[in-house]
Amino acid sequence: MTTDSEKSAGLVNATAELTIAGRKLRLEMPVPAGRARLIELLPFFRYLTDSFVDLAVENAQAAGATVSCRKGCGACCRQLVPIAGIEAQRLRELVEAMPEPRKSVILARFERARQILREAGLLEKLLEPNRIKEDAIVALGLDYFREGIACPFLEDESCSIYAERPLACREYLVVSPAEHCANPSAESVRCVKPVVHTAKAVRGLNAAWSGHATRWLPLILALTWAETHCDDTPERLGTEWVKDAFTRITGREA
Ligand code: SF4
Repeated sequence: MTTDSEKSAGLVNATAELTIAGRKLRLEMPVPAGRARLIELLPFFRYLTDSFVDLAVENAQAAGATVSCRKGCGACCRQLVPIAGIEAQRLRELVEAMPEPRKSVILARFERARQILREAGLLEKLLEPNRIKEDAIVALGLDYFREGIACPFLEDESCSIYAERPLACREYLVVSPAEHCANPSAESVRCVKPVVHTAKAVRGLNAAWSGHATRWLPLILALTWAETHCDDTPERLGTEWVKDAFTRITGREA
């Protein structure tokens, strides 16, 4: 399936070597050849996230841990998933391009989720994520999880948009027993320790270059949000975006 943001992105492979957490990493990254808006950098952000997650998994395995996430185990897909504005816009493109009746089924799931959130008194808060204080996010996440809302893209307990799943979904892996994920707590669920927080850095980059400055938004409200917010980031050289992204991800001038 090819959508608007993919059609406009002429991607080339760029190579980079970096040392992170004491390990050398050689990257062959898909980046826009010329000028691009931030949404066109999504293949690059996915590649980067997956590369850093692989590194984090190797570190966890070297320390004797085993990743317990498996296909068909979708307990974590009932969590509050934070995404960037460009990810919401991409999900909207993806759903718009779906054939019927799949599109209507997915849209109905989003609508049902919204209804549940409204009845639970959570919708209002989630519609204004910038107002939610950092120290209130964990409690809100638990309230959300208690509602048991499956992600609209979850089918047979597996992600039906696996190649397109958001960056936060890519970063979430656990090394504790899978059965603990159905009833998560800080003590029972142990996540793979990320070497860097790519998803969060991308959300920050998006907020910094966008007029709406949305720091994050919940995946479950992605489609309605994207209806009223376009990608208003400026067109910049792919290399400029990449440099900014690395600076945010590593916390050092790239
Ligand atoms: S997008 Fe996929 S991986 Fe992410 S929460 Fe939804 S079903 Fe799960």
